[in-house]
Amino acid sequence: MSGVWPRWPRLVAGNWKMHKTAAEAAGLARELVELLRARPACEVALCPPFPALEAVHGELRDTTVHLGGQNMHWEPQGAFTGEVSGGMLRAVGCRFVIVGHSERRHGLGEDDVMVARKCRAALRDDLTPIVCVGETLEERDGDRMAEVLVRQTQAAFDGFDSVTASTVVVAYEPVWAIGTGRVATPEQAREAHRVIRATLDRVVGAGVGNRVAILYGGSVNADNAAALFAEEELDGALVGGASLQAATFWKIAAAAAHPAAV
Ligand code: PEP
Repeated sequence: MSGVWPRWPRLVAGNWKMHKTAAEAAGLARELVELLRARPACEVALCPPFPALEAVHGELRDTTVHLGGQNMHWEPQGAFTGEVSGGMLRAVGCRFVIVGHSERRHGLGEDDVMVARKCRAALRDDLTPIVCVGETLEERDGDRMAEVLVRQTQAAFDGFDSVTASTVVVAYEPVWAIGTGRVATPEQAREAHRVIRATLDRVVGAGVGNRVAILYGGSVNADNAAALFAEEELDGALVGGASLQAATFWKIAAAAAHPAAV
């Protein structure tokens, strides 16, 4: 097991999605490492596409920046064309893996059962899963935000004891905020994080919700990061578009460390 992931220092993870060749990704990682030398007091992880993992790992060696995969299969090996296993991610230097990203849930048919399997497989393979949960706009408008978060959180954590639960990171990513420029307000994020924490208390055990790190994701950028991080419920951020520029991503990491200073 990769161990308990604490709520503080915050974690800022960059999801590079399907952007950057290996050479481009290495260049971006190099720029970031340089900026992060003036190290913000937060944890940072980079999640490049699979073909770039090795090159980025090379840039992150001897730094405190973590590497993460964007997805994995739950089986350790086998006839699964196009998939990668947690063991493969671990072998290339990953500490984290994103599971259940909404672009996979809604674009590629990944359901709660698959996400739960991936979460368990990640822990088996010594990776820290970043489990994404979040409602669509239709669900929010239909007053179903809490229902969706409860269902997705329960499926991912069902059967975990409190120590295992604390080795998982959750990312609250409202689907309507991802890649849209429409960021959740700090109050909306707080409300959703509290639903997730209450669900963890109920599904895993009293007090567990307060020990699990919950990131916010959805259109975080250098301009809105400080306001979001003024909200103590946020234990970090999962950042897509704004993680593709080193200076912008660095500003977000700096805001996560000291929201008032940016
Ligand atoms: C994401 O990909 O997880 C994400 C939050 O994207 P963006 O920051 O671009 O909305």
